[in-house]
Amino acid sequence: APAPPPARHLFGDPAEVEALRGNLLAWYDRCKRDLPWRALVRGDIEKPGPALLPAVWVSEIMLQQTQVATVIDYYNRWMQKWPTLQALAQASLEEVNELWAGLGYYSRGKRLQEAARKVVSELAGRMPRTAEDLQKLLPGVGRYTAGAIASIAYGQATGVVDGNVIRVLCRLRCIGADSGSPAVIDRLWDMANVLVDRSRPGDFNQALMELGATVCVPKSPLCGECPVKQHCQAWRRKLFGKPAPVPDVEDCGVGDCPLCPPATEPWDSSLGVTNFPRKAAKKPPRAMRTATCVLERRGCHDAPEYLIVQRPSSGLLAGLWEFPSLPLAQDLQEEKEREELADHLQAWMGWPVAAKSLQFIGEVIHIFSHIHQTYVVYSLHLDGDVTPDPALSPSRWVTEDEFHASAVSTAMKKV
Ligand code: SF4
Repeated sequence: APAPPPARHLFGDPAEVEALRGNLLAWYDRCKRDLPWRALVRGDIEKPGPALLPAVWVSEIMLQQTQVATVIDYYNRWMQKWPTLQALAQASLEEVNELWAGLGYYSRGKRLQEAARKVVSELAGRMPRTAEDLQKLLPGVGRYTAGAIASIAYGQATGVVDGNVIRVLCRLRCIGADSGSPAVIDRLWDMANVLVDRSRPGDFNQALMELGATVCVPKSPLCGECPVKQHCQAWRRKLFGKPAPVPDVEDCGVGDCPLCPPATEPWDSSLGVTNFPRKAAKKPPRAMRTATCVLERRGCHDAPEYLIVQRPSSGLLAGLWEFPSLPLAQDLQEEKEREELADHLQAWMGWPVAAKSLQFIGEVIHIFSHIHQTYVVYSLHLDGDVTPDPALSPSRWVTEDEFHASAVSTAMKKV
């Protein structure tokens, strides 16, 4: 078994843990933000009657990769439309995608709805209540979301580790090894489980995340206002310029400690507490080019209409609607791109399409988390009607208003 990490990276003193919990919870009670998902509490969820959708489940799924300010409106609309597990289980994927449109990472909404269906059809409408069962039984619920639901909605004394918690814990305990590495993440989970308050686990976890979101922020943290600064090794190190002395404990040997910064990147005093956390350099996003064609016709009362097609039900942007599109090889000449798109449209519509009839409009860049996507946009006006082969993919003609109300991605709205 690997040796336990040096004590300066742990919370080994029960009295200190107790004091930290008290300081953090007192601050949270005074300063927590008023967020709509905090209004629906444990008592509401456990009332008899139709099983309410745990607010924290919906909010946590929406908050993955998305800012609080953006999520609030989506959250309110979602809970108004589907307040119970049963209501969500009966929704169609189309409705879910329509409400989710613009929030990004669409598989999150789809999996939330699949999980609600599973609870209703296979678990007799009863939500699993421990982190272990939530993670095991519900699609789309990972370790973090399971811990958040179990502690906040059902009061289980279990910790959580998200980006905010990683930052706070790495600073509290001067953890400078790659904070994305499995070894460090495991240590942080151990730490979160030691720290979590036994009587108010949900509030404690929210407090730790809130601290990371509002005080212990990535750049320029507000250490002077921090309720746990007396427990923070990074802050003490900033003040004293060297590791805080810990009595009766071996200090980390430079370069040997699995949690210290690598010997090649020692403490940089100009960075202060933001020396922590550290991350290995990210892989650059993959570059992709996609030709897309806005097909336009005159519909009722001569109003323009546009053809949209539905994407496959799995993969990136699953089930969303888009203008007919074709992924391109990199480094194709413009003429060749145009020809490939014309061939694609021709095969799909069963109509001859000349490459030169496609009018180049411009390029649109959209960054997905791991893809740098360039849409090469063309347009084509049609005189007659076109009904693409429905066996290939579902399609429909929409007005501009209908387009905006459809389940289309932000990238397509840019197009
Ligand atoms: Fe973060 Fe500063 Fe508080 Fe330490 S003292 S936890 S670095 S805000």
